[in-house]
Amino acid sequence: MKNIKITRKITQGMYVLTTKEGGCIVDAVSQVSAGDEPLISVAVMKSNYTNELLKKNNKFSLSILSKDVNPEIIKTFGFNTGRKINKFENTKTTKIEEIDVINDSIGYMVCEIVDFIENDTHTLFIGKVIEADVFEEKEPMSYGYYQEHKEELLKVTTQKGKTAWVCSVCGYIYYAEELPEDFRCPICKVGKEYFKKQ
Ligand code: FE
Repeated sequence: MKNIKITRKITQGMYVLTTKEGGCIVDAVSQVSAGDEPLISVAVMKSNYTNELLKKNNKFSLSILSKDVNPEIIKTFGFNTGRKINKFENTKTTKIEEIDVINDSIGYMVCEIVDFIENDTHTLFIGKVIEADVFEEKEPMSYGYYQEHKEELLKVTTQKGKTAWVCSVCGYIYYAEELPEDFRCPICKVGKEYFKKQ
Protein backbone atom coordinates (compact mmCIF):
# COMPACT_ATOMS: atom_id res chain seq x y z
CA MET A 1 0.00 0.00 0.00
CA LYS A 2 1.57 3.32 -1.02
CA ASN A 3 -0.20 5.68 1.42
CA ILE A 4 -3.18 4.63 3.51
CA LYS A 5 -3.54 8.20 4.80
CA ILE A 6 -5.61 8.96 1.71
CA THR A 7 -8.54 7.48 3.70
CA ARG A 8 -8.37 10.63 5.85
CA LYS A 9 -9.53 12.55 2.80
CA ILE A 10 -12.85 10.70 2.83
CA THR A 11 -15.16 13.37 4.21
CA GLN A 12 -16.39 12.15 7.58
CA GLY A 13 -17.70 14.05 10.54
CA MET A 14 -17.43 13.97 14.32
CA TYR A 15 -20.40 12.63 16.21
CA VAL A 16 -21.35 11.51 19.68
CA LEU A 17 -23.20 8.25 19.43
CA THR A 18 -25.34 7.58 22.48
CA THR A 19 -27.52 4.71 23.51
CA LYS A 20 -29.11 3.81 26.82
CA GLU A 21 -26.39 4.04 29.53
CA GLY A 22 -23.47 4.91 27.27
CA GLY A 23 -21.92 6.52 24.27
CA CYS A 24 -18.73 7.25 22.34
CA ILE A 25 -17.26 9.42 19.59
CA VAL A 26 -17.71 8.06 16.08
CA ASP A 27 -16.68 9.39 12.68
CA ALA A 28 -17.75 6.67 10.22
CA VAL A 29 -21.36 7.68 9.66
CA SER A 30 -23.17 7.73 6.36
CA GLN A 31 -26.63 7.94 4.95
CA VAL A 32 -27.49 4.79 3.02
CA SER A 33 -31.02 5.55 1.85
CA ALA A 34 -33.31 8.55 1.45
CA GLY A 35 -37.00 9.20 2.09
CA ASP A 36 -38.93 10.13 5.24
CA GLU A 37 -37.18 7.53 7.38
CA PRO A 38 -33.69 7.23 5.85
CA LEU A 39 -31.22 4.53 6.83
CA ILE A 40 -27.96 5.61 8.46
CA SER A 41 -24.92 3.40 8.97
CA VAL A 42 -22.36 3.84 11.72
CA ALA A 43 -19.23 1.84 12.49
CA VAL A 44 -18.39 1.23 16.17
CA MET A 45 -15.22 -0.45 17.40
CA LYS A 46 -15.87 -3.92 18.77
CA SER A 47 -13.72 -3.27 21.84
CA ASN A 48 -15.88 -0.26 22.83
CA TYR A 49 -18.27 -0.68 25.72
CA THR A 50 -20.83 1.20 23.60
CA ASN A 51 -20.76 -1.65 21.07
CA GLU A 52 -21.86 -4.04 23.83
CA LEU A 53 -24.63 -1.65 24.87
CA LEU A 54 -25.85 -1.25 21.28
CA LYS A 55 -26.37 -4.99 21.03
CA LYS A 56 -28.58 -4.90 24.13
CA ASN A 57 -30.55 -1.84 23.00
CA ASN A 58 -32.44 -1.32 19.80
CA LYS A 59 -31.86 2.41 19.47
CA PHE A 60 -29.08 4.95 19.23
CA SER A 61 -28.72 8.65 18.66
CA LEU A 62 -26.10 10.58 16.71
CA SER A 63 -25.41 14.14 17.88
CA ILE A 64 -23.57 16.12 15.20
CA LEU A 65 -20.67 18.17 16.60
CA SER A 66 -19.81 21.63 15.33
CA LYS A 67 -16.31 23.05 14.80
CA ASP A 68 -16.63 25.05 18.01
CA VAL A 69 -17.91 22.25 20.22
CA ASN A 70 -16.50 22.25 23.76
CA PRO A 71 -13.49 19.89 23.39
CA GLU A 72 -14.36 18.40 26.81
CA ILE A 73 -17.15 16.52 25.02
CA ILE A 74 -14.63 14.91 22.67
CA LYS A 75 -12.37 14.04 25.61
CA THR A 76 -15.20 12.65 27.75
CA PHE A 77 -16.82 10.52 25.07
CA GLY A 78 -13.74 9.71 23.02
CA PHE A 79 -11.01 8.93 25.51
CA ASN A 80 -12.77 7.27 28.40
CA THR A 81 -14.72 4.11 28.82
CA GLY A 82 -18.23 3.88 30.19
CA ARG A 83 -16.99 0.81 32.08
CA LYS A 84 -15.11 3.22 34.37
CA ILE A 85 -16.82 6.61 34.30
CA ASN A 86 -20.30 8.04 33.88
CA LYS A 87 -19.85 10.08 30.70
CA PHE A 88 -23.13 11.89 31.27
CA GLU A 89 -22.19 13.28 34.67
CA ASN A 90 -20.74 16.57 33.37
CA THR A 91 -22.47 16.70 29.97
CA LYS A 92 -25.75 18.52 29.36
CA THR A 93 -28.17 16.27 27.51
CA THR A 94 -31.85 16.09 26.59
CA LYS A 95 -33.81 12.83 26.57
CA ILE A 96 -35.32 12.12 23.17
CA GLU A 97 -36.99 8.74 22.60
CA GLU A 98 -35.34 7.56 25.86
CA ILE A 99 -31.84 8.40 24.58
CA ASP A 100 -29.59 11.20 25.87
CA VAL A 101 -28.87 13.65 23.08
CA ILE A 102 -25.93 16.09 23.48
CA ASN A 103 -27.13 19.70 23.92
CA ASP A 104 -23.83 21.17 22.64
CA SER A 105 -24.41 19.89 19.10
CA ILE A 106 -25.89 21.04 15.79
CA GLY A 107 -28.70 18.54 16.10
CA TYR A 108 -29.42 14.83 16.29
CA MET A 109 -30.92 11.76 14.67
CA VAL A 110 -32.43 8.96 16.73
CA CYS A 111 -32.30 5.63 14.91
CA GLU A 112 -33.81 2.22 15.46
CA ILE A 113 -31.30 -0.56 14.69
CA VAL A 114 -32.49 -2.64 11.74
CA ASP A 115 -29.35 -4.58 10.88
CA PHE A 116 -25.67 -4.99 11.67
CA ILE A 117 -22.57 -6.41 9.98
CA GLU A 118 -19.49 -7.63 11.84
CA ASN A 119 -15.94 -7.29 10.54
CA ASP A 120 -12.58 -7.83 12.28
CA THR A 121 -12.45 -4.60 14.23
CA HIS A 122 -15.82 -2.88 13.93
CA THR A 123 -19.54 -3.54 13.83
CA LEU A 124 -21.45 -1.63 11.19
CA PHE A 125 -24.86 -0.78 12.63
CA ILE A 126 -27.65 0.25 10.30
CA GLY A 127 -30.44 2.31 11.79
CA LYS A 128 -33.68 3.79 10.55
CA VAL A 129 -34.16 7.45 11.55
CA ILE A 130 -37.26 7.74 13.74
CA GLU A 131 -36.70 11.25 15.14
CA ALA A 132 -34.39 14.12 14.18
CA ASP A 133 -33.97 17.84 14.74
CA VAL A 134 -31.64 20.76 14.00
CA PHE A 135 -30.67 22.82 17.08
CA GLU A 136 -28.45 25.41 15.44
CA GLU A 137 -27.14 26.24 11.97
CA LYS A 138 -23.39 25.84 12.46
CA GLU A 139 -20.54 24.34 10.51
CA PRO A 140 -20.05 20.64 11.35
CA MET A 141 -16.61 19.47 12.44
CA SER A 142 -15.12 17.11 9.89
CA TYR A 143 -12.87 14.25 10.92
CA GLY A 144 -10.10 15.81 8.81
CA TYR A 145 -10.45 19.13 10.68
CA TYR A 146 -10.29 17.26 13.98
CA GLN A 147 -7.11 15.43 12.90
CA GLU A 148 -5.46 18.70 11.86
CA HIS A 149 -6.45 20.61 15.02
CA LYS A 150 -6.26 17.76 17.52
CA GLU A 151 -3.27 19.16 19.36
CA GLU A 152 -4.84 22.56 20.13
CA LEU A 153 -8.28 21.05 20.76
CA LEU A 154 -7.00 18.52 23.26
CA LYS A 155 -4.30 20.75 24.77
CA VAL A 156 -3.45 19.61 28.28
CA THR A 157 -1.78 21.33 31.21
CA THR A 158 0.62 19.25 33.25
CA GLN A 159 1.74 19.76 36.85
CA LYS A 160 4.80 22.00 37.19
CA GLY A 161 8.09 20.50 38.28
CA LYS A 162 7.18 16.96 37.23
CA THR A 163 8.20 15.13 34.07
CA ALA A 164 5.03 14.34 32.18
CA TRP A 165 4.50 12.09 29.17
CA VAL A 166 1.42 13.11 27.20
CA CYS A 167 -0.39 10.79 24.79
CA SER A 168 -0.55 12.63 21.46
CA VAL A 169 -3.67 10.70 20.54
CA CYS A 170 -5.90 11.21 23.58
CA GLY A 171 -4.14 13.57 25.98
CA TYR A 172 -3.63 11.04 28.78
CA ILE A 173 -0.82 12.14 31.13
CA TYR A 174 1.67 9.77 32.72
CA TYR A 175 4.03 11.26 35.33
CA ALA A 176 7.46 9.60 35.40
CA GLU A 177 11.05 10.32 34.34
CA GLU A 178 10.91 7.49 31.80
CA LEU A 179 8.09 5.42 30.33
CA PRO A 180 8.13 1.71 31.21
CA GLU A 181 9.45 -0.64 28.50
CA ASP A 182 6.17 -2.10 27.18
CA PHE A 183 4.10 0.96 27.96
CA ARG A 184 0.74 1.45 26.24
CA CYS A 185 -1.76 4.23 26.76
CA PRO A 186 -4.38 2.84 29.19
CA ILE A 187 -7.07 4.93 27.49
CA CYS A 188 -6.49 4.64 23.75
CA LYS A 189 -4.01 1.71 23.75
CA VAL A 190 -1.35 3.29 21.52
CA GLY A 191 2.32 2.45 22.12
CA LYS A 192 4.95 4.64 23.84
CA GLU A 193 6.10 6.13 20.51
CA TYR A 194 2.93 8.25 20.61
CA PHE A 195 3.93 9.87 23.92
CA LYS A 196 5.63 13.26 24.05
CA LYS A 197 7.71 14.45 26.99
CA GLN A 198 6.64 17.77 28.57
FE1 FE B 1 -3.99 7.72 24.61
